[in-house]
Formats: sequence, structure tokens, C-alpha cells
Amino acid sequence: MFTLKNLNLFLIFFWISFCDAQIYDLIIKNGHVIDPKNNIDSKLDIGIADGIIKKVSNHIPSENSKKTINAEDMYVVPGLIDIHTHVFVGGTPDVFANGRNSVAADNFSFRSGITTMVDAGTSGWRNFPTFKKNVIDKSETRILVFLNIAGNGMSGNPILTGLVDEEYITNITSDKKYNQQDIVDMDAKKTASVIKENNDVIIGVKIGHYEGKEIIPFERAIEAANIANVPVIVECHLPELSLENQLNMMRMGDILSHTYENVDERETVIDEDGKVRDYVIKAKKRGVLFDVSHGGYGFWFNQALPALKKGFKPDTFGSDLHKFSMNKGMKSILNIMSKYLNMGMSMNDVILRATWNPAKIIKRKDIGSLSVGNDADISVLSLLNGNFGFVDAAGYKIIGDKKLQTELTLKEGVIKWDLNGLGAKKIK
Ligand SMILES: [Zn+2]
Repeated sequence: MFTLKNLNLFLIFFWISFCDAQIYDLIIKNGHVIDPKNNIDSKLDIGIADGIIKKVSNHIPSENSKKTINAEDMYVVPGLIDIHTHVFVGGTPDVFANGRNSVAADNFSFRSGITTMVDAGTSGWRNFPTFKKNVIDKSETRILVFLNIAGNGMSGNPILTGLVDEEYITNITSDKKYNQQDIVDMDAKKTASVIKENNDVIIGVKIGHYEGKEIIPFERAIEAANIANVPVIVECHLPELSLENQLNMMRMGDILSHTYENVDERETVIDEDGKVRDYVIKAKKRGVLFDVSHGGYGFWFNQALPALKKGFKPDTFGSDLHKFSMNKGMKSILNIMSKYLNMGMSMNDVILRATWNPAKIIKRKDIGSLSVGNDADISVLSLLNGNFGFVDAAGYKIIGDKKLQTELTLKEGVIKWDLNGLGAKKIK
């Protein structure tokens, strides 16, 4: 019998259906969603509207969306975060800061499944404004920054490269003035104040590439980070400071880069008996963090394999992207993730290290997950099966049968990369 109560229920149902109709701009359906922050590892749909993740659920009807993408047999994960890149690209030859050794973020990010790149110290307090104006504000990729303790960041010698103005050149008293070796220009207070003024973009301090014997640069970096309350990333290359001393000086939440490096300038994390050194384990227990920072020379299987066997895992998969590493064994963060899959790490653990772990470490909990309300930064990945070679810095390789490939990258709900036209219309 049709009663008033029935009518009310009908109206409520109609109202809910009406509200739900076409409320999404895009639904990604049937994908295997891995979102370590929210403990999600199952087949789910994701509804996106106005660039924001609105719903993650077992079933979201396609009728409710302007567009649907079928991600069947693919992994749907938060947009990847590369915590170690060099993207202060510019016209200066042979340097990283405002130079050609850096990579243009948008040219590389989305095709690699990356929506956030963290630049590791290519700029310092002097040239950060140029980086922000020319690159960060003009890029579609979200770019965050570790500010180098050296005023001009990774500028080589600015006298030669024209990075300083007339006034500086007139006052030059040393061939190191204002370059990345100039201790006087490593100003903790100025570094901290530029961080505080730009705390939406700058998330930490970087120390590295110092070739002298002093530990002052290291101390200044820690001092700046203490004032600004941010982490420090340590890009070794501090030949006069042993790895043990470096780790002892690092605080909880600071990050060691090039963890699996095997070069003369620094001790390795693995000792002669194939064990992880005690002081490395002690630092990890104390809360010091370890990034892969693959780069051109930073990743050696003779370190990474025994380390993983002993349970010593990296916290993050920073690539140390630059003009050189991208064409060597590093290739992209996906290649690093594939290496670890083939070395035996689980998919969940691999995704964690490229999404939620870096977000937590840089204190940006608004990214790195698929939480409702977040920007819809999403990567859709396929896992290829075949016979693949993965190369390290020493020219050795492992053969593996798994390889990740970026199918689709969304930044704030907009398709930025679509390898096989998942979002394209079929020709009739
Ligand atoms: Zn680097």
C-alpha cells in the first residue's frame, strides 16, 4: 500500500540519487588501490570532483560521473613523491643551480608517476627567489625544497658562471666567494629566515658537496634546521667527516642520502663481513632516516642486497634526479621501485616508500595518500612481467621479472600523463 511513509522514503531515495548523479568529474574504477597511509590494499573505486578525492569505496556507479577510467589489472596509488631531485633548471652550463645539470620537473615527473618533487639543495638562501620565480611557480609538478646551507646552492663557482651581480664581483677576495665551498656564505640565520618566509615550499635544509676539512658547514646546517624546525638532508661527499660522525651529528628525522654508496670518500653501510655496521643500526634506531638517493653513483647492489637481507630497508626512494643519473642505472623512481620489487620487497612496502613515508618525513601530511579531501594526485601503474635488467652504479645488474610502468598520472584531478589512452575516447 502506498502510504505517506512510503512517499517520504521514495522522496529521500530520489533526493539521494539526484544528489549522487554526475557529482564526480572522474571515477577510477576497478583498480587495485594501495594507500599505505590508510591501510588500503584492495580493489576499490575512487571518485574525484573539483580536483579533490571525494570518495574511495567498493563501488561508485559510472552514471555518477562525467568520465570513467577503467584501471582493471592495474595498481592505483597516491601520486609518487621523489624526495631527492635537482630541478633548478636554467641556462648556465655545467652547474646545477639555475643550470643545465638540473632537469625540468614537468618534463620528467608525470611520465614517471611523480606529482611531487623535492629539490635537494640545488638552491640556497641567495638564489631561492630565482628558483621560485622561474621554476617552482611556473611548474605543474608540486616542487618542494631542501634549502642548501651554501647561499648559492649547487652553483659551482659563481664568478665563472655569472650567478652573482656586479657588487659581489667587485668585492671578491677569494675564488670561493659565494660558491658552494664558501663557508662564510653558509649563514644559518639567513637560511632559517628564508625557510620561515617560504614554509609552504621549503621543507628542510641540505648539506653536501663540501670538500674542505671543517665541520662548520654541517654544524651551520643543523643550526639552521633547529631554528626553522625542519629536517636536514645530508648528501655525504664530506670526505673529512666519517660516516659514523655524520650519523652521530644527525638528529631524529634527519635524512642520510646515498645510503648504498660504495665510494672512497665515505664508509659503506655494510662491513667487510657483509653485516650492517653497528653504528648504522644504532642511528636508525635513534630515528635517523635513510634515503636511496640513487643518482649516478649512489646505489650499489653489493650494499643494497646484503642490507635488505639483514632487514635494513631504506625509508624513502629518492632518485637524486639530474641530467646524468636519469641516463644511467637510476633512470626514474619507478626503476628504483622495480629494483626493490625484484630484490624481494612487497608491493605495499615499495609504494609506502614513494608516497606516505616521504610525505611524513617532510611533514606534508596533505600529500602522499588517497585520503578523502586531499588533492587528487594519483598514479595508475601497471606491473609488467618479462625479463628485465636493472643496473647499479658499478655497472653490475640483476635480472628480474617485474617492472612498474606509469599508465596514468593525475595532478589535482587533471590527466597529465596517459600512456595508453585510458582516458581517451575510442575512435568509432
Ligand atoms: Zn643530489
